[in-house]
Amino acid sequence: MDIRGGQKLAWENKVVKGFNTTDVPLEFCLLQGEVAEAFDAWRKGRGSVGEELADVALFLFSLAEMTGVDLQGEVEAKIARNAARAYTRLPNGVLVKDVPVPAE
Ligand SMILES: [Mg+2]
Repeated sequence: MDIRGGQKLAWENKVVKGFNTTDVPLEFCLLQGEVAEAFDAWRKGRGSVGEELADVALFLFSLAEMTGVDLQGEVEAKIARNAARAYTRLPNGVLVKDVPVPAE
């Protein structure tokens, strides 16, 4: 299964089960709740961090579908943009993106 397939399956499950498919702000809140559940599972050493991260992915997939985003295409494009970026480490250890200097 790729991201596009996961997005389709997550959406189909929402439709079949009668879950939220129209309220975008609610979906953002539910996604945030799943991130908090994943953090809590990790922080408390529960064995469910993987399951909670899967919930995060499923809510993210559904949110992408709800907003008309091809998440796989966006992730692929973003990975390519990130790979092409150059960074410089400041004396204090912070990495900053290099900004191309305009030609004179
Ligand atoms: Mg959960």
